[in-house]
Amino acid sequence: MRPRFGGAFFFDMNADLEHLIVLQRLDSTVLDAQRRLADEPGRQQAFDTRLETTLAAMAAAKERLGENQNARRAIEKDVAVHQGRLSKFRDQLMAVKTNVEYQAVQKEIEFAQKEVKTLEDGILERMLEADELTAALKRAESERAAEQKAVDAERRMLASELSELRTTLERLTKERTALVASLDPHTFKIFDVVSKRRNGVAMAQARDGICTICHVRLRPQVFNTVLRNEQILQCDSCGRILYHIPAPPAAAGAPQPS
Ligand SMILES: [Zn+2]
Repeated sequence: MRPRFGGAFFFDMNADLEHLIVLQRLDSTVLDAQRRLADEPGRQQAFDTRLETTLAAMAAAKERLGENQNARRAIEKDVAVHQGRLSKFRDQLMAVKTNVEYQAVQKEIEFAQKEVKTLEDGILERMLEADELTAALKRAESERAAEQKAVDAERRMLASELSELRTTLERLTKERTALVASLDPHTFKIFDVVSKRRNGVAMAQARDGICTICHVRLRPQVFNTVLRNEQILQCDSCGRILYHIPAPPAAAGAPQPS
C-alpha cells in the first residue's frame, strides 16, 4: 500500500489524485513562503524610509532653531551698535555749545532709542519663537526615538517570521521529495509540466460543470468523469488536472438527504 499524505478526504479518491492535491497545497505554501522571503528587501527599505523621515524632521527642527538663534544674535549686534552711538551722542550732549546743536543731538538720541526699542521688540519675538521651536525639536526627537523603537521591534518580528519561513521551507522540501517519490512518474510529469506552465498552480477544482480556475465550462462527459475522482483528467482549456470535492456529509442531527 502507498503511504498516505495528509489528504484524508471523507470520500473515495484515486490515490495519485489525492496525492496531487496534497502536492499542490504544499507547492502553494512553498510559493507563498518564497514570495514573503523575496519581499524582505522591500520591507527593510520601508523601515529605513520611516527612520529617515523622522530623522529628517528632527534635522529640520534643529535647523529652524539654529536660524532663530542666529537671527537673534544678529539683532543683538545691531542693538550694541545703536547703544554705542547713543553713548557717543550723550557725550556730545555734554559738550554742545548752542541750543541748535543740543536739539540736533537730542534728535539723534531719540532716533537711536527708537531703533533700539524696535530691535528689542524683535529680540523678544525671537525669544518667544525659540520657545516654540525648542518644543517642536523636543517633539521631533521623541517621535524619532519612538519610531526607532517601533522599527527595532518590527525588525525583530520580521527576522523571526523569516527564520520560521526558512524552517518551514526546509520541512516542505523534504515532504515534497517523499510525496513525489510516492507518485506514479507519468502522473507527476503531467503535474510538473502544467505547474511550470501555469505559475505553480497545476490543480483545479471542478464545480457546477466549470473549471474553477480558468472558468471554462467542461464538456458534460468530462465533468461526469471528474465527479468520480477516479482518474487524472485535464481541463481542455487550461490543462490543469481536475478534481471534485463533494459537499460535506450533513452534520449530525441535520435532516439526512434521501
Ligand atoms: Zn481550466
